[in-house]
Amino acid sequence: MAAHILVVEDEEKLARFVELELIHEGYEVTKSGDGREALELATENTYDLILLDIMLPGLNGLEVLRRLGNSHPTPVILLTARDAVMDKVSGLDAGAVDYITKPFAIEELLARVRVALKLHPVGGADSASSASDGTAAPAEEGVYRWKSLALDEKKHRVTYDGKEITLTNREFEMLKVFLTNQDIVLTRDTLLEKVCGYDYVGETNVVDVYVRFLRSKIDEAFDIKMIETVRGVGYVIKSE
Ligand code: CA
Repeated sequence: MAAHILVVEDEEKLARFVELELIHEGYEVTKSGDGREALELATENTYDLILLDIMLPGLNGLEVLRRLGNSHPTPVILLTARDAVMDKVSGLDAGAVDYITKPFAIEELLARVRVALKLHPVGGADSASSASDGTAAPAEEGVYRWKSLALDEKKHRVTYDGKEITLTNREFEMLKVFLTNQDIVLTRDTLLEKVCGYDYVGETNVVDVYVRFLRSKIDEAFDIKMIETVRGVGYVIKSE
């Protein structure tokens, strides 16, 4: 059964574009351009994922998210305006699983949709079956895998082939960002924001430093190629 996605966006052209792309990928789509209507839809129906714009008529996206509450099972990806840092922070605090900054490349949106569906299946069914392209897929909650590598969030433990790897907190956080965004090219800015926080002021090359540490502790230690450099853009871990 195709995953059912609720797209909440009042810019009609953008909503239509996203809808067509999602349908093309095999998803079922319901659209809403009003926050109050979206809240009603999300309360009365079970969607596998909600793409939620923040600036909406009726009720803004953050308010929709708050009223849905933390017990609502459907993962939410926020669509935020560039530089709306407070929105991102409040949104993640209010329970959104991810956000994407407008304007976005549709490939990135589709990749984030696939990741969110796999990491947060509603009701545990194979709700991500329509997007079976092999992105991150942890079987146990809080355990993220890439080949023989496993990161256990609760135990704060990383292993490769069962052998323990000692990482600092920042290295651990960065590895988790890579593992939960497999096949998505992450820019230095994105990595910096996700690892060091929104308010970090400093050089983006701190990212390169952590990547180097991770490579020496994992890639070099186990003679593998995990973190790939995408010239002029950033870094990626490929699931295949
Ligand atoms: Ca809007």
